[in-house]
Amino acid sequence: MIEMQDVYKKYPNGVIAANGIDVHIKAGEFVYVVGPSGAGKTTFIKMMYREEKPTSGTITINGVNLAKLKSSKVPLLRRNIGVVFQDFKLLPTLTVYENVAFALEVTEEQPKYIKKQVMETLDLVNLKHKARMLPTELSGGEQQRVSIARSIVNSPKVVIADEPTGNLDPDTSWEIMNIFDEINTRGTTVVMATHNKEIVNTIKHRVIAIEGGKIVRDEQRGDYGYES
Ligand code: ADP
Ligand code: ADP
Repeated sequence: MIEMQDVYKKYPNGVIAANGIDVHIKAGEFVYVVGPSGAGKTTFIKMMYREEKPTSGTITINGVNLAKLKSSKVPLLRRNIGVVFQDFKLLPTLTVYENVAFALEVTEEQPKYIKKQVMETLDLVNLKHKARMLPTELSGGEQQRVSIARSIVNSPKVVIADEPTGNLDPDTSWEIMNIFDEINTRGTTVVMATHNKEIVNTIKHRVIAIEGGKIVRDEQRGDYGYES
């Protein structure tokens, strides 16, 4: 599903954010990516959806070699990868419904199909009743649920999340993590960078720890492994 071979990333300012990464993530896995600030977690994740390109090495997603992917094909790749951010990144002038439908409308699906798909997805994140509201009318947890709905409405094979609970209180964080767990149970691969020690140590999954751009630990049903 996701394969990195000897991936190296040097930013123009000279910082080496990935320093020889080898990893294989199988379809259906749930992977936490942990490590100190500045370790290279975001870079690792951004390279998976081609927001950043590696300086050298190969990355293959669903059999597609990202290095050989033409820029014109990047939108197609993104449709098969859902992405969730710490700060939600919802479009502020669009309703909840429209924020989710937007991801499908670019695929030129039939309007009837779009409506059904959007409402089913909003139902999954328990927000059907708020479909007409604007993001500013919602709590942080609700906004993150909209953003999760947007990320999965295309039925991608993989969902990538960068600190999705970073701006949320503990109860809301649990709610969000349970939704990711449900998405994974339904068969979607989940890769998530997180600092949420309590959740990583409770909802057990594979843990990949990154430090200084290198994978320093990779354990099935691992622990968070840091103090905070
Ligand atoms: P993490 O997500 O673990 O905090 P990042 O991948 O964001 O780590 O950053 C890894 C290193 O790369 C840090 O030293 C960071 O400052 C640097 N870095 C990240 N993005 C850029 C960029 N666009 N340009 C230059 N340096 C960057
Ligand atoms: P109802 O028939 O009770 O409105 P729906 O499942 O059709 O139930 O819609 C639920 C919510 O989603 C409603 O608030 C509706 O306005 C909103 N909604 C449905 N379709 C659209 C659309 N195409 N654009 C914007 N909002 C929509």
